[in-house]
Amino acid sequence: MCGIVGAIADRDVMPILMEGLRRLEYRGYDSAGVAIQSALGELQRFRALGKVAVLQAAVDNTDVTGNLGIAHTRWATHGVPAERNAHPQMSDVSGVSVAVVHNGIVENHNALRDQLLEWGYSFTSETDTEVIAHLLAHKLKVGKDLFSAVLEVSQDLTGAYALAAASPDDDQRIVVTQAGSPLVIGLGEGENFIGSDAAALLPVTRRFIFLEEGDIAEVRRDGVTIYDAAGMLVEREVKQSTMSDASVDKGPYRHYMLKEIFEQPGVIAE
Ligand code: GLU
Repeated sequence: MCGIVGAIADRDVMPILMEGLRRLEYRGYDSAGVAIQSALGELQRFRALGKVAVLQAAVDNTDVTGNLGIAHTRWATHGVPAERNAHPQMSDVSGVSVAVVHNGIVENHNALRDQLLEWGYSFTSETDTEVIAHLLAHKLKVGKDLFSAVLEVSQDLTGAYALAAASPDDDQRIVVTQAGSPLVIGLGEGENFIGSDAAALLPVTRRFIFLEEGDIAEVRRDGVTIYDAAGMLVEREVKQSTMSDASVDKGPYRHYMLKEIFEQPGVIAE
């Protein structure tokens, strides 16, 4: 089970994304990556095989900052664990640039890949995720905005997934959707966040919206708009989290599994 984090803010979001990834480590993963929209208006991507700490070292070697970014810990389902298969997957071959992070599986990726190859797209990974990136680019290229692109592409995908997309060729926003894989939106003051679970976002907010099956949302600095699977504008309840920060730390234990085992009596009593 892998993880997604995203942020849009007035401040540099790189530390928020990296801390979010660290907090998703307990879910297990084989590689990690981040794409951030820098001041130059370009998506800068960093990926690493192995631990989030390896990715952190790569990021620390640069002075890249940005106000919008998406990040991911991957658990390979399509394509071996490797840097080229780590997310974000990007498409920038058709004059537009788009980055995608994705949890889950696109079952019909072979048919979609064949279609994209016919249209002239080439692939740099073996992932099912890269088809999503190219399909979004294909829509952006013909003038669709990122929200419509995600809406239309998600209608062509079969499988259980959650995804987040960003493009410097679109407005300043992150577009997310989920079908069968959880995704939460964290609400800040003049800044907003996304994550696979609330624990990833606890340092920056306690207010969360849990997306429902098929929801598609645009997350902007100053607000969040959510549509249901039928394309109707919806209001989702904002929940206040009382989760303690300790719940995401390994504490004195060597492994999260050990922590879970030893916490069982207390959790059950509670
Ligand atoms: N199916 C995607 C891949 O293999 C995402 C896997 C995941 O959920 O981390 O890259």
